[in-house]
Amino acid sequence: MSKNDFYKKLEDVVRTGKAPYVIESGQGAYLTINGKKKLNFCSSHYLGFAEDQRLKTAVKKAVEKYGVGTGYRTLAGTHTLHLELEEAIAKFKGTEASVVFSSAYMANAAAIQTIIGKEDIVISDELNHASIIDAVRLSGVKNKFIYKHADTSDLEEKLKEAQKVQKAPKSDGEEPLILIVTDGVFSMDGDLAPLPGIVRLAEKYKALTMVDDAHGEGVLGKGGRGVVDHYGLVGKIDIEIGSLSKAFSVIGGFIAGNRTLIGYYNLKARQRLFSIAPTIPDTAASLEAIRILQKSDAAVKKLWENVNYVRNEFKKLGFDTGNSQTPITPVMLGSDEVAKEFSTRLFDEGVFATPIVFPMVAKGAARIRVIPSASQSRKDLDVGIKAFEKIGRQLGVIK
Ligand SMILES: *Cc1c(COP(=O)(O)O)cnc(C)c1O
Repeated sequence: MSKNDFYKKLEDVVRTGKAPYVIESGQGAYLTINGKKKLNFCSSHYLGFAEDQRLKTAVKKAVEKYGVGTGYRTLAGTHTLHLELEEAIAKFKGTEASVVFSSAYMANAAAIQTIIGKEDIVISDELNHASIIDAVRLSGVKNKFIYKHADTSDLEEKLKEAQKVQKAPKSDGEEPLILIVTDGVFSMDGDLAPLPGIVRLAEKYKALTMVDDAHGEGVLGKGGRGVVDHYGLVGKIDIEIGSLSKAFSVIGGFIAGNRTLIGYYNLKARQRLFSIAPTIPDTAASLEAIRILQKSDAAVKKLWENVNYVRNEFKKLGFDTGNSQTPITPVMLGSDEVAKEFSTRLFDEGVFATPIVFPMVAKGAARIRVIPSASQSRKDLDVGIKAFEKIGRQLGVIK
């Protein structure tokens, strides 16, 4: 392809791309878009920390004391705040240690690429997050098995196949390693990975387990400790991934696990060696968010109160809200067109909730994914529910 044709091809794609909404406010109960207030009804700021005064104060103090930038961890970038944050995360998750990265995308890449080589084996849920899929690709592993979503019998079939592959030693003579990897919470439907079954099978087949809990931390388990705590499996998962960008409302990701594993990542993860560490304000804000949760589960309780209220009201109105076990509340609308029209009309009513359409979900399974947050009052939630009722009737989704 000539350079001209190449740019023409890109132009065709860019022309059809939709410009993003531009937010002119903080990410609280409401957003300001084009100068107008819209209920923030689909964000992952579960706990309302994005505008929390305690996080703001912690950031100001840390910036006054330490400035902004840090550095590369292995050179001169490991700051006492990083170590405090890693210790706080490990304590929160109930693991021996943790290591932070600039995002969960990075943490997933590091978690898999560092320990999995071409001749090892990865077994992955078919609906895993894009960052896991990319991380598996980055490792260059050839033996990939994809099991049916949340299906432990299919996982066992794949483990049996993996066991056969495992019989042939790698070129260095070692036995291939088997890694089972899954999202903890699946973000389109809000359902959970069947972790007890996965852990049982991993023990039977001597495989490592990895759980990406980006949507579970701050939300599930005791005081928001995540999906592993929710199932009472603390200490039973080898590799736990978390994001500091969802419930914690900052930026960053981490791997939590035993001391040996984290020690190995500290020495070997390319994402830690060759990419910058989180900045002072990011680290201070994340640390404060975790300290708040260590002290009190008030925000988590408020989140769930709000979620239960919205979901009950939606059900009473006759909406199909799927089978979510988390605050992710899909309002099922069928066709892409209905979902897009529904979202446009919500916007006109002062409610921001974007449509989820093909290829993010299957054809015919389009939806609006509502996520209430702890920052909202009953009155705020009623604004959203009333708008859903009005437009649901207009579009014939409910009677
Ligand atoms: C959002 C998300 C990520 C990416 O998190 P970042 O910290 O924004 O990179 C990774 N995994 C899952 C399951 C997610 O939902």
